[in-house]
Amino acid sequence: MKCFYHEAQNDHAPKHFFLRGQPAPSPEQPVRAERLKDAISAAGASLEILPPLVSDAVLLSRLNQIHTPRYLEFLENVVERWRALPAAADVVAPNVHPCGHARYYPRHVIGQAGWHMHDMACPMDAGSYRGIIASATTAQAAADAVLEGEEATYALCRPPGHHAGPERAGGFCFVNNCALAATVLREKYDRVAIVDVDLHHGNGTQDIFWQRSDVWTGSVHVDPADFYPFYWGAVDEVGADSGLGYNCNVPLPLGANGIAFLQALSRLLSALAQFKPQAIVIALGLDAHKDDPLAGMTLETEDFYRIGQRLAQVKGPKVIVQEGGYPTDSLGDNLAAFLQGFRRG
Ligand SMILES: [Zn+2]
Repeated sequence: MKCFYHEAQNDHAPKHFFLRGQPAPSPEQPVRAERLKDAISAAGASLEILPPLVSDAVLLSRLNQIHTPRYLEFLENVVERWRALPAAADVVAPNVHPCGHARYYPRHVIGQAGWHMHDMACPMDAGSYRGIIASATTAQAAADAVLEGEEATYALCRPPGHHAGPERAGGFCFVNNCALAATVLREKYDRVAIVDVDLHHGNGTQDIFWQRSDVWTGSVHVDPADFYPFYWGAVDEVGADSGLGYNCNVPLPLGANGIAFLQALSRLLSALAQFKPQAIVIALGLDAHKDDPLAGMTLETEDFYRIGQRLAQVKGPKVIVQEGGYPTDSLGDNLAAFLQGFRRG
């Protein structure tokens, strides 16, 4: 299996995020990519390091299909605008958010930061935009390779993407890499599905395709009543308008184990089968492992082997896009187990 990675992802290295009312070290660090790269070698897959970033008109036109122009412009320019504020920190972090029925999109950068960043987990500094675009470029390369005939590819993406909606960053995510991969696949296939096995609900992905019937979205995750992203991810969220019936959520109780997860995945894949997808994007979070610092489920490393095996059995070409999974001794083993299960599926 071809695996893709872009070194400029390292330019995004957030030091802190807000946890339980105080700054805490961010777990979304470049060391994640180092551990995942080692795991790719251990699984016997080939890793292609992508060439330096260039201005990519194709990427921008694809991103414009899933994000609003003003959001993409905000991501590109916000750090420079923020640093021009008197007595501003080097890092962009909003202190006000629109609640209820906000009527006006503000001109001021502080108002725009609150509009476009829905939580305190997305600090941006001078290197962040390059890292974000490098991550998107990686997802795009993996999806393009499938268009060119590969049966399955893996994109080692960080920052991750599935909490990023049409114009909001959140949960360490800025650009929705899975939605981008699905957009690329849609250039060849009429019916594309995104299957999200991250610990957290893929609220950004759900939001982007909420009213669309050409991209089915489904997610297994901890019940949002008790867990991030809190406001989305319930069973009765099934899409709207043309997208009605094209979104499927299977929430699990906090602390769920591998048996419960695999049963939930089977339910999700039964729903997916009715859609008859022609190509699939897998949003691969590894943060459901029992040792993950985000501590939401209790999966063992062997469970990722079974998840990989089960997903490989779904017919159609696939792009696997890395989502969550934070530094622990088992992070690399979990990816290697998934890839081995996937190959033997
Ligand atoms: Zn996650």
